[in-house]
Parts: sequence; C-alpha cells; structure tokens
Amino acid sequence: MIRLVDLSQKKILKNRSGDCFCLDATAGNGWDTLFLAKLSGASGLVYSFDLQHDALKKTKKLLVQNSLEKKVELIRSCHSNFDLHVPLEMKRKIQAITFNLGYLPGSDKKVVTQKNTTLSAIEKAYDWLKESGIISVISYVGQPGGLEESKGVSNLVDRKNWRAERFIGNTTAHSPTLYLIRKVNKV
Ligand code: SAH
Repeated sequence: MIRLVDLSQKKILKNRSGDCFCLDATAGNGWDTLFLAKLSGASGLVYSFDLQHDALKKTKKLLVQNSLEKKVELIRSCHSNFDLHVPLEMKRKIQAITFNLGYLPGSDKKVVTQKNTTLSAIEKAYDWLKESGIISVISYVGQPGGLEESKGVSNLVDRKNWRAERFIGNTTAHSPTLYLIRKVNKV
C-alpha cells in the first residue's frame, strides 16, 4: 500500500511546472521540506515552519546533508502567522503547501497541531496559493484531537467549495487522511 506522504509528494511533483516557491507548514523531521527544496529548483525557494526548535534543527541537518540548506528559510513560528514571515510579493505565487498534522514523531507529544490554528493556516494558505497550486494536508484521526481536527479540515473544504480529493491511508477506523486541495479558477 502506498503511504499518504508518498502519494502527496507524487501528486505535487506531477503538478509542478518549472521552478517554484513552496511552503511547509509543519517541518517536523524535515522530509517534506527536503522534498520541496528539491522540487523548487534553481530559482525557487521554500519557507518551512515549526513551533519547535528541535524540529527545525532536524530539518536543517537533513538539508545540510543534501546540500540544500540555501533553498530553505526555516522559521520558528505558528503556521497560522506565516504571512508575518513570508514576503507579501509571494502572495498567490506559492505552488505547493504541505501540512503534516499531529505531533513530532519521537518527541514528548506536548506540541501538537491545534484545530483552530490549523484551519486558520489552511484558509490563509489557499489565499497565498498560486492558481493551479496544491495544498496537501495529512491528518491523523487516531491521535488525540486528530478526529476533530480532521473533521474541521473536511468541513472547511466543503464550506469553501474548494476542489479537493480525499484519500484514506488504510482500512482501519483510525486511518490517517490526506486532503489534496487544488486552486482552480471557478469562472
Ligand atoms: N504526525 C506526523 C508528523 C507531524 S509533525 C507523523 O506521525 O508522521 C508535526 C509538526 O508540526 C511538529 O514538528 C510540531 O512541532 C509542528 N507544529 C505543531 N503545531 C504547530 C503550529 N501551530 N505551527 C507550526 N508547527 C506546528
């Protein structure tokens, strides 16, 4: 079975058309940031956010190992405030935005994404997305608060009438869910 993270990256890669700007809303262990850094190309750039110093440190290490640290701006902030850190001229120019919700694997689980800030960040992310860009959200229904958060994402997508695909990771009741939201011109 294909992992949701791999599926998300596959879809984002397929959607790419040249060098681009990207945003990782949850740096975590750095795998999405690394993927986006490769994707962004010679003239692109990635903005990568996390609340935890530890996560940014791990992400930095991974980027250095791959000689891609110059492609990424690492920012310690809540993703719901990303617009305070990303230059305004990037608005509507971001090709791919990733959210991998929940807590940092291997951490003490004290810092975990929160429904309200997650939803506010996703709403803003859509605003900053380029036409035809993609937002990927992986939510962990089995983690504490995860079900509410996932329902919140689903409701937001419906309420906004965004074009989105949903994928369920496995057949258990607690399967993670991937939401792939595409910005399309609705004229
Ligand atoms: N649950 C996933 C990994 C998620 S990592 C898995 O099991 O593979 C999620 C990351 O989001 C963590 O590093 C955490 O510190 C970060 N995070 C939590 N809330 C945040 C917020 N409001 N803004 C930015 N990053 C946040």
